[in-house]
Amino acid sequence: QRAREAAQRAEPAATRDGHRIEVAANINLPDQAAFALAQGAEGVGLMRTEFLFLERGETPDEEDQYATYRAMLEALGGRRLIVRALDIGGDKQVPHLRLPVEANPFLGVRGARLLLRRPDLMEPQLRALYRAAAAGGPLSIMFPMVTSVPEVVALRAACERIRAEVGAPEVPVGIMVEVPAAAVQADALARHVDFFSVGTNDLTQYVLAIDRQNPELAAEADSLHPAVLRLIAQTVEAATRHGRWVGVCGGLAGEPFGAALLTGLGVAELSMTPRDIPAVKAVLRGATLPALRALAGQAIACGTAAEVRELEMELEAMTR
Ligand code: PEP
Ligand code: MG
Repeated sequence: QRAREAAQRAEPAATRDGHRIEVAANINLPDQAAFALAQGAEGVGLMRTEFLFLERGETPDEEDQYATYRAMLEALGGRRLIVRALDIGGDKQVPHLRLPVEANPFLGVRGARLLLRRPDLMEPQLRALYRAAAAGGPLSIMFPMVTSVPEVVALRAACERIRAEVGAPEVPVGIMVEVPAAAVQADALARHVDFFSVGTNDLTQYVLAIDRQNPELAAEADSLHPAVLRLIAQTVEAATRHGRWVGVCGGLAGEPFGAALLTGLGVAELSMTPRDIPAVKAVLRGATLPALRALAGQAIACGTAAEVRELEMELEAMTR
């Protein structure tokens, strides 16, 4: 029984009719990799590097970071690692960086905006990442909180300059789609990136204008809101036209029903907390891609998140 369960976890995720979906883990430190792989992760879709800064109480230098990225690649044994560049600001405050206090940190100098203003933070990180890639292993770089084409152009220019300095090979460079502007302009952004990963936590916050930390509004901050799903659908369509793939690394990817809808919308990769992986793989195995596409189409046409959630019964019926 145990052996069968372990074997099922290790099997790649596919729908009943054989459509493959990559299921990856959101982990931050190399010592979490073994557990993620045991749960059936096919790689890491989101390594939040701000944790390297939060946990230490001081800024890790290039060597520290290089050692961590190398260790993560080694722990993954050849599986893909997507490292997200520092996402400081909003709910992720790093006291020892002594950044200016802002009235609205979620709308402030966060993510890519901070990286572009602080080469002293971005450049050592990019050097560490390219050196880790040069030493071997499939590493991708992803930038958080991108809102515009000029930001991506500037970020890619920084990547290319540092890659050349380090003498590293090219690596895929992607962005998070977690701001409405990025989803709306996905067609323009797609020309400049290799992949997108939708951050449904922030996308929901910014689309619905609900602080993701406000407990009073937690029930309304539902990533299944049709407005959020429509933006994801639009992102996938635009990316597909440009031959780019779209993943989702926000919380919706780890909910079985959410994962099913996202697969129906054409998302290629789902990255989540490791313990959510077995249930997500199980639900995907129970349904066919045409059925999930039809379900996603119905969800997009709904008026409210509550109506979308009612469709879960249909998913249960089809996977029974
Ligand atoms: C998200 O916003 O959905 C996301 C994955 O990033 P974070 O939760 O780290 O902001
Ligand atoms: Mg985010």
